[in-house]
Amino acid sequence: MKIQMLPSAAGGGLHQFLTTFLVNDRVAIDAGCLGFHGDPKDQVRVRHVFLTHSHADHVCSLPLFVNHVTDCGAPPVTLYGSAPTLESVRNDIFNGRTWPTLDRFSCDGVPLVRLEVLTAGRSVTVDGLSVTAVPVDHVIGTLGYIVDDSRSAVAISSDSRATEEIWREASRLPHLKAAFIGVAFPNARSELAEIAGHMTPAAFEREVAKLPPHVRIVAIHMKPIYHQQIEDELRGMGLRNVVAGVAGHDYVF
Ligand SMILES: [Zn+2]
Ligand SMILES: [Zn+2]
Repeated sequence: MKIQMLPSAAGGGLHQFLTTFLVNDRVAIDAGCLGFHGDPKDQVRVRHVFLTHSHADHVCSLPLFVNHVTDCGAPPVTLYGSAPTLESVRNDIFNGRTWPTLDRFSCDGVPLVRLEVLTAGRSVTVDGLSVTAVPVDHVIGTLGYIVDDSRSAVAISSDSRATEEIWREASRLPHLKAAFIGVAFPNARSELAEIAGHMTPAAFEREVAKLPPHVRIVAIHMKPIYHQQIEDELRGMGLRNVVAGVAGHDYVF
């Protein structure tokens, strides 16, 4: 399984200002920077987008992406997420003001965009991948995802406080290879992290301990102004199976 942590800064750079993970070139988790990815042919291959939640850093290029890849005669693009997330996509993005109401357009009876609500624990199979939605602790309706191609499984939880269910479910899979875990604030900002629904390296370390020791951990979504500090704190913990995620890097499991 190939997972690209898409770059999100003009001209590259290691920071993950915006969040998109592209699996096997075809399935996206979040659309923070999906609409800026590659050239239009790369984007057109993506027909399934799983949203963790509706914060701007996770959806800001969604309207552009949908505009780039939908056409009469093309299969619809399906956007998956919890009911609150898709309600926000409909009311705050495709509302006729921020962007046209593309989710209500159709061509010869075929919609350009489909919105599909995911409930906790539900799995859908697309492009050879089973994707399971698991609630995490951020804003209401935030989901993490377990992506499984039957040889490798990877858990992705971007924005969350400490959580249990996704690590419990992922740990049940004997072929769990990796987990992407968000760590947004340095340890000195633990109070702010809790208010904002994020984690510090100290909280991150406790999440890592909930997973089997062979699982590779990628630390993601560090706030750019704290990036170096967070990396230093993670390195100081000496966790052998943890690497700091690099925007623009391809991970193969
Ligand atoms: Zn968020
Ligand atoms: Zn975020």
